[in-house]
Amino acid sequence: MKPLEQLVRPNILGLEPYTCARNEYTGEARAWLDANENSRIDGFNRYPDPLQLAVKERLAEMRGVAVDRIFLGVGSDECIDITYRVFCRPGIDNVVAIEPTYGMYSVCAAINDVEYRRVNLRPDYSLDVETLLSATDSNTKVIWICSPNNPTGNAFPLEQLREVATRFDGIVVIDEAYIDFSPHGSMLERLDEYPNVIVMQTFSKAWASAALRLGIAFASREIIGIFNNVKYPYNINILTQREALKVLDRAPEIRDIVGELVAARENLATRLSALGCVRTVHPSDANFLLAEVTDAGAIYSYLKDNGVIVRNRSRVTLCGNCLRITVGTDVENDLLIKMLSEYGK
Ligand SMILES: *Cc1c(COP(=O)(O)O)cnc(C)c1O
Repeated sequence: MKPLEQLVRPNILGLEPYTCARNEYTGEARAWLDANENSRIDGFNRYPDPLQLAVKERLAEMRGVAVDRIFLGVGSDECIDITYRVFCRPGIDNVVAIEPTYGMYSVCAAINDVEYRRVNLRPDYSLDVETLLSATDSNTKVIWICSPNNPTGNAFPLEQLREVATRFDGIVVIDEAYIDFSPHGSMLERLDEYPNVIVMQTFSKAWASAALRLGIAFASREIIGIFNNVKYPYNINILTQREALKVLDRAPEIRDIVGELVAARENLATRLSALGCVRTVHPSDANFLLAEVTDAGAIYSYLKDNGVIVRNRSRVTLCGNCLRITVGTDVENDLLIKMLSEYGK
């Protein structure tokens, strides 16, 4: 890995961050007269904890990562965008990503005026590490790998992710939005050994809290410190912080439901595979299935007209005639199978 000083944009390294009132004093006070809040009306009058320590303490315990190696963002969206803003000089630096993958990496690259280099997966959706690394040059700051990958559904072997992290001298982001549905391990387990790796997770999928807008980045203390300097001071509001604690309290129950969902995924895959209009159901380590069908456009419209909404991914690289289907409730899955079995009849 290059020294962080060579990876971080010079203006960010030299940043004098905003010091908010709630950062300067954190103890118990008899009178809070520091932040120009309205002390005469209770409710939401106080600024929230800018570093969300209560939530981070729980996550630290659960994931085995120190509190100061955790960043919380307004969804993974903020974690993705801040990665560009911290590392990539607009118009100069570039990033490399697998293709196909999650769309936000390229949208944020475009917003930040950063060249986005796509490296196709193999036709079986496996990762070719040599080709990925050969797309990098001295201005490549970040490699994006989503594992389990959206929309293909497969996780990549941890040995391959470790190889990329070892051989690339810049930042490697592993987006683990779907990790709780996967039998393969997380890159978090040995994060200490990879100071250039950022692992992203989210409350939006397994934790059933997409509406809270809460994303997580795990990385070295140095990287997290820089992220904290760059983010909006009070990026995570008090309602989200409170609700996140309640969700984390329900961890055992949620784990059970995720287990049921994984079983339902396998059942749904078997039932889809048996249908005449389905050619292939790709193996999935996530909470969705990518299915190659006989005519994606027609089947997508037919399902939509019958009130069943799936994602048509047929124009995506290596996903010709593919629909991405989220595993739903048993009722929703049954309805999908019923509609598909009646298709063309
Ligand atoms: C759904 C998803 C996310 C979640 O994004 P949020 O902004 O946290 O809701 C992140 N990465 C991938 C690959 C996803 O599919």
